[in-house]
Order: sequence, then C-alpha cells, then structure tokens
Amino acid sequence: MNTAQAIQRVIILGIDGAGAYMKEADTPHIDALLQGGSSTYGAQTVYPSNSGECWGSLLHGVGPEKHKAQAYIQNNAQMPADPASASLFRRVKAAYPNSPMGAFVCWAPILTGAIEELDGVVKHAAPDADLVPVIGAFIREQPAFRLLFVQLDDVDAAGHKHGFGTAGQLQAITRADAQIGEIVRALAAAAMLDDSLIVVTTDHGGGGARTHDHGSDHPKDMTIFWGCRGPGVAAGAELDGVSIRDTAAVALHALGLPLPEGGEAKLPEGLFL
Ligand SMILES: [Zn+2]
Repeated sequence: MNTAQAIQRVIILGIDGAGAYMKEADTPHIDALLQGGSSTYGAQTVYPSNSGECWGSLLHGVGPEKHKAQAYIQNNAQMPADPASASLFRRVKAAYPNSPMGAFVCWAPILTGAIEELDGVVKHAAPDADLVPVIGAFIREQPAFRLLFVQLDDVDAAGHKHGFGTAGQLQAITRADAQIGEIVRALAAAAMLDDSLIVVTTDHGGGGARTHDHGSDHPKDMTIFWGCRGPGVAAGAELDGVSIRDTAAVALHALGLPLPEGGEAKLPEGLFL
C-alpha cells in the first residue's frame, strides 16, 4: 500500500503527564481506537521530562537543545521561524499551503512557544472539557485539515495533585479516555477514521524522583505510552526503542513529506507495513 496516498490527514491526540500509567488505567476508547494498530508502553521521552521540552520534541522531531520551545515558553515568547528547527505545522504548511490545521490545547504556552506563527493554523486553548466540543466543530467545519494536534492536561494536574500513578490519576486517565472517545465519534461522523493516521501518546510520566512531580531522568518520568493506527500501519507490531521525537517522523512520512534533518526522529521499526 502506498501509505502517503492513502492517508489524508494526521491526528495527534496527546494526554499530558500520563507516562506509561495508561497501562494501569481503564481506557476502553483508546483501546478500541488502536485495535488494528500498534502501541507500546515502553517509548521514551526526552530529558528533562517537562512539558515544554517534551511537546516541543514531539512537534519538531528533535531534542530540546535544538527546538528550544521550553525557553520560548518560559519567556512567554513567540517561537520564531528558526531555520534550525521547524515544527510539524511549519513543515506541513510549506507542503500544503492551503490546507487548514488545528492545535487545540489546555496548556496555552504550547501554542506560541512550541509552534511558529502561521496562517491557516487554528490555535485554541481551553480546559479539557471545553476543548472537546471545539475540536468536534473544527472536524466538522474544516474537513480538509491535514494536521490536528490535541493536548489534554487534566491527567498531569491529577498527577501533581494526587501523585503520579495513584488511583486519583488513573481515574483522570479514564476521563481523558472518554474525551478521546468523543473526538473519535466526531471523526467517525465525518468518515475520517479510515484515511487518517492517528497517534495517541503523552509527553512524560511522573512519580520517579518525586511522587507528585516529573522532570527527572527516572524511568517513571521518562517512559511513555505511544500508539498509532492508520492505513499502512501494522497491527500489533512489537515497537522497540520508540522516542517521542519519532512522532514527527511518523506524521511527516504519513503525509508524504521528508523526515526532519539530522536523523533524531526515525520511523519506528515495523510500524509501517
Ligand atoms: Zn506537570
């Protein structure tokens, strides 16, 4: 199968702070979505395991020292169109200048600190529960979109409040799963489930060096869930050595575009048929 032709759009559904605790939580909607695709509870994020660094690496396919999203976020600054590192949005925009794209997040700094200022990208920040209907409206009203990025934040907040991996956080993961179920229903209603590449993942875990925090190089902070489905994606592949940076490579490959320069982002072995 020619993957690039079969896939019309890429959808990245991100759950902040879920780490590999997805494995212990009840996630029926995500499980159903990824049935027929491939996933792993052993993917790795980048160090330090904080959201600016990690979402930046997912969106750019390079490490924090190159994309520098954390610095723009800390300074409340707009990420410039740096020639050293382009986000997925900038790369897709260059290839498909007339295609709409959407970034819907709870943690607003991502929108300016990790994504360049680009025409045709709908950027929206709202609490998780309010975000879901807005995403549904975007799917209905902008069906020609090429890239949709979602970041839900309540799971990270629950980890900081109750402790990462605790029952309180696992319940938050299940609530996020239900919200992803709502997004999937909107995609199904728009007949987009069969020609989209969909990634479900998280930026980092937590509870490693500190029970209520993350940022360290402890495996509980660094290990993340990563799953993918779509045309040309293998079913039940054993995914080894996946990095959060590889998300960018997978997304670009799915849209028929070259991978980020430097080789930090790679296609997970065995993911594509
Ligand atoms: Zn956090």
